[in-house]
Formats: sequence, structure tokens, C-alpha cells
Amino acid sequence: MQKRIFAAVLAIMTVSVVVFSTLALCISYSVYSTEEQTGLKAAADIVTEFSLSPQEIYVRLEKALNFEVRVTYVSTDGTVLFDSESNTGDNHAEREEIKKAFAEGSAEVVRDSETTGKKYCFYAVRYDNGVLRFGREQSGFLSLFSFVIPIMLVLYAALCIVSLFTAKLLTKQLISPLNSLVKQLDVITAANRESKPSLVPYQELEPLAETIENLRVRLGAYIRKLLETEQIRSDFSANVSHELKTPLTTIKGFAEMMEAGLIKSESDIKKYGGTINRESIRLLSLIDDIIKLSEIEEKKDDNIETISLSATARDVGEMLNDLADKNKVRLSVVADDVLIKGNQIYIYELFFNLAENAIKYNKPGGNVWLRVFKEGTNAVIVVSDTGIGIPEDCLDRIFERFYRVDKSRSKATNGTGLGLSIVKHIVGYHHGEISTKSIVDKGTEITVKLPKNI
Ligand code: ADP
Repeated sequence: MQKRIFAAVLAIMTVSVVVFSTLALCISYSVYSTEEQTGLKAAADIVTEFSLSPQEIYVRLEKALNFEVRVTYVSTDGTVLFDSESNTGDNHAEREEIKKAFAEGSAEVVRDSETTGKKYCFYAVRYDNGVLRFGREQSGFLSLFSFVIPIMLVLYAALCIVSLFTAKLLTKQLISPLNSLVKQLDVITAANRESKPSLVPYQELEPLAETIENLRVRLGAYIRKLLETEQIRSDFSANVSHELKTPLTTIKGFAEMMEAGLIKSESDIKKYGGTINRESIRLLSLIDDIIKLSEIEEKKDDNIETISLSATARDVGEMLNDLADKNKVRLSVVADDVLIKGNQIYIYELFFNLAENAIKYNKPGGNVWLRVFKEGTNAVIVVSDTGIGIPEDCLDRIFERFYRVDKSRSKATNGTGLGLSIVKHIVGYHHGEISTKSIVDKGTEITVKLPKNI
């Protein structure tokens, strides 16, 4: 980067020096050429005032002028009667300046001479029936500046060297604040963030510094999240193994006892067979919940459709009526007609898990309400109960995988500890929010807000 800026500065300086000096030379050359022509014309106009022969005119001019002049005299038919530099007797009738002078009285032409091959500026005037022509060799660009060019080349070289140093100096000045900014950004920590603005060398760099700082913070958060996710994953694997192992160990133990003939009486077989069955059901529901959780985590956005929350709430209510009756709990559904865009299976699962918990963790004679209503652009689902409640210090943890407030009660009701974790993932999938209020022995209220997106 530094090298590129340096090369660019050097190139700009060199190109501008070359362009400007060439331009100056061209302008000087054009001014000088015009001057040469004007000088010739002025001298010619003076001498033609006197009635002198072309020969005499030439001699006088030769003496008076500080440049070489060529004098030619052409008769009416174009025959050269006098030429100070070339043969007489030639016919110049077709020469541009001669023709023009015969026609218009005078002519000024710059062209290469056909006899000498040099570049001339000619001034021709009608004189004594014929045409008197004055010629002056025009200086060529190179010959005119022959002495200037070596000086210019030396100057170019000197300028190149100066540009080289200046460019280096400029680049250094330009880059060093950036370098120091980068170094300082490295050491900005949460502790000295307040001093950040003074670290920015140019005002123009403040947005850049801001962006870098934001990126740094976001990257930090991202890495933290990655590490957390990794931690959650490894905890989850350990928990899964443990949770699956427990029912399997029980099943294996009773199966071995049966195989060894230790359980003989019909009542024992019935009793232990029932345990094996319950543990198998538990195992299956655990596996089922684990699969659901990983499916939601994969976040496939397919199966998005318009869902009626009131219809779903009523379906779940009907499905859980038996459980409610068994637990002597009254289940009521109070649902407005609210539509959202979402995944029908997940939303059913959300209602089911919340309502099932409200019934499971209730008291005989208790109540459960499933409510659905609109609130601005959100759909609100509230599941409340008059159950056992959740201690305040556990409220934060109930959405963790496999977390149960009371392990034995959860187990007795076939709980896996994954229900609320699934709910939380479903809420996240629909970009919603979930909050919990609970008082021990009085009841619990879980509120879910989902954007309607409709
Ligand atoms: P589980 O399968 O054990 O019900 P959940 O993830 O659904 O797992 O719930 C986690 C824990 O939160 C439960 O074990 C229970 O202790 C507590 N809990 C959830 N809902 C309620 C509720 N409505 N009332 C009281 N406690 C609840």
C-alpha cells in the first residue's frame, strides 16, 4: 500500500513537470516564430519605401539586420531576376506567395523552400512591376532550444530526485497516522473506549474507526456466542447420554431379572413389566423431544403457512381434556381470531407443551387458561395456571435443556425437561419473545409474543 501511494505520488509529480515544461516550450516556440515573421515584415516594409534595386535592398538589409535575409525579385512572368541565395532565370510564377502577391499586393507564407529545402517564412510585395520577396529561415524547434534542452534534462533529473524525496516524505506523513490508528485500535479495550475519538488522526477517519470498532465488538460477541454454543452442545451431549442411560439401565435390570427367572409370580411380572413399559415410553418421548429440538435448531424455513392461533389453541385444548380431567384441573380456551405466518406443527407443539405443563404442575381443583389476542402487530399467547408455581431463582433456568425444578415430579408426569427448551426454540424460530411470571403455590403465567407477519 505504502509503495503504491509512493509510486502514484512520484508519477503524478514527474508527469506534471514534463507536461508543464513541454507546454512552456511549445508556447515560447510559437511566440518566437511569430516574432521572426514580424521582424522580417517590418524590415521589408521599410526598405521598399526607397526606390532601390533588389541587389541594393539585399545589401542594406544584410548590413542592418542581425539575421540572415534572402531577397528574391521576380518579373511579371515569374522569371527570377535576382535571388540572393539561388540561381536567377528560374520561374517562380507558381510559388504560393508570388501568386498571392501578384493578386493581392502582398503575401505572407511559411513553407519549405523548393530550392534549399529549409523552412522559410516569406513576405512578398508588389515592387516595380514584379514581386519582391523577402525570406527568413525559420528556426526549428530543436535548433531553437538546442541549448535549453540539456539544461532541461538536468533539471528533470534534479526534479525527479526532489520528487522522489518529497513523495517518500508525503507518503510517510500520509501513512503514519493510519499506522498509528491501526496500532491504537488494537489496544482499544472496553476500559478505554471513551478515549477512542482522540485516537483518530483525521476527522475523515472517524467513520472508519467507528466501523472497525463495531466490527471488533460484533466479532467478540460472535466468538463468545460460538464458544457458548459449543459449550451448550457438549453439555447437551453429556446430558443426553445420561438421560438415555437412566431408563435403559432400569429396563436392562428388570429384563435380566426376568431372564434369570427371579421374577416369577404373575403380580410381579405385571408390576415389573409395567415399569419396563413406562421406562420405554419415557425413552421414546426423550428421543422424540431430542429429534424435535434438533429439527427446530436446523431452522429450515419451509412449511411456513397461515395459521389460525385460535383454532390451534382449541385443538390443543381438546387434546388435553383427558389429562386435565385426570388431574382434576379445569382447562379454558379464550381465543380471539388471530392469524399468523408460521410453522403449524411448531405452533401446535408450543401450545401443547405450555398447556401440558400448566396441567401437570397444577393442583387438584386448579385452573388453566389458554388465551390468544392481538396486540398491535403482534399475536399474544398467554398460558396461565393456578398451580404450584416456580421459585424465583429457577425462573431463568426453566428454558434450559433437561432442567427441572422438581426432578421427581417431572419424572412422575413423564417430563423430559426438554418441553420449555423446545418452546423457546419455536419462539426464536418465529422471531418472537417469551416471558414468565410465577409465584410459588399461586401459579404461573407464560406469555409469548409473535409477530403476525400478515
Ligand atoms: P418437563 O418435561 O420436566 O415438564 P419442561 O422443559 O417443560 O420440562 O419444564 C421445565 C421445568 O419447569 C419443569 O420440570 C417444571 O419444574 C417447571 N415448569 C414448567 N412449567 C411449569 C408450570 N406451569 N408451573 C410450574 N412449574 C413449571
